[in-house]
Amino acid sequence: METVTLEEFQARCWAQGVPWEHVAFKCPQCGTVQSMASLMLMGCPIPEAESALGVKCEGHYSGSGPFGPIRTLAFVPPRGCKMSLTDPAPVLHSHAGLKVVMGNFSYPLFALATPGEAQVLKAALYAQSSSSEAA
Ligand SMILES: [Zn+2]
Repeated sequence: METVTLEEFQARCWAQGVPWEHVAFKCPQCGTVQSMASLMLMGCPIPEAESALGVKCEGHYSGSGPFGPIRTLAFVPPRGCKMSLTDPAPVLHSHAGLKVVMGNFSYPLFALATPGEAQVLKAALYAQSSSSEAA
């Protein structure tokens, strides 16, 4: 696990070259690249998306998680797994890719995706939404 300051973390987010809702993390368990935009597409409630980002895998919302396919859209294949860093088991925290330190606090996150991975995901989401409008 890599420890970074909040400033370094934010710099890496912006280095992905995408709007904030498309800043992407990579699940340490299944490798799914995910952003707030893709989490919401998988059925994550909008108010929850920011806190789920980098902490809960899309599988929690896409139908492979414990809550079932609440809002999964038919044209989007389920992605992700049940990985969550919010579970209390400390063993899970060893899967975190990043530990962001703010003053006396620190919190574990999935590793950030590369700029290329974030941009591919953003392009894929736009392709999906435009093809659904055409259908
Ligand atoms: Zn996963």
